[in-house]
Amino acid sequence: MTVTPAHLRALASRAEALTAEVRALCDSAPNGSPEREHLAVAGQAANWLARGAEDLQRAATDLARIQAQPCGLPWSVCPEHGNTLSSSAGVSTCRVCRRTWNYSRPGEPCKEPVTWKVIDRAGTETRMCDGHVLGARAAAQGVTFLRLEQP
Ligand SMILES: [Zn+2]
Ligand SMILES: [Zn+2]
Repeated sequence: MTVTPAHLRALASRAEALTAEVRALCDSAPNGSPEREHLAVAGQAANWLARGAEDLQRAATDLARIQAQPCGLPWSVCPEHGNTLSSSAGVSTCRVCRRTWNYSRPGEPCKEPVTWKVIDRAGTETRMCDGHVLGARAAAQGVTFLRLEQP
């Protein structure tokens, strides 16, 4: 079977629910009672469960990234700012955030995950990443941008 980020997110939310249940149970023992003291171990377990839930969420995000189809447009953009790169001597610099990239091959296809479906006036559909959509928004008229559902 194919593992999807949704599977991992479902497990994470079960771990979160379990964390909340354990914490509620610990809190239900009266303060200063012998039960309360002995429940410290259970409280520790709740902390581990909370950590586990966070790790599962992180795994879901990583998996979504590797399973995503790459954008593939043959020019480079800043993933956050779009068409803001200036290049010199093989190094591209974003004019907004000053991040730099070393492109060994100019025009190497974009590896960012596809997050948008873009439909131009003629009805042609292109899938692209956040950075490329930013550039396209600035340039295009009569174009529809649809945010894709996260898997
Ligand atoms: Zn930038
Ligand atoms: Zn792209």
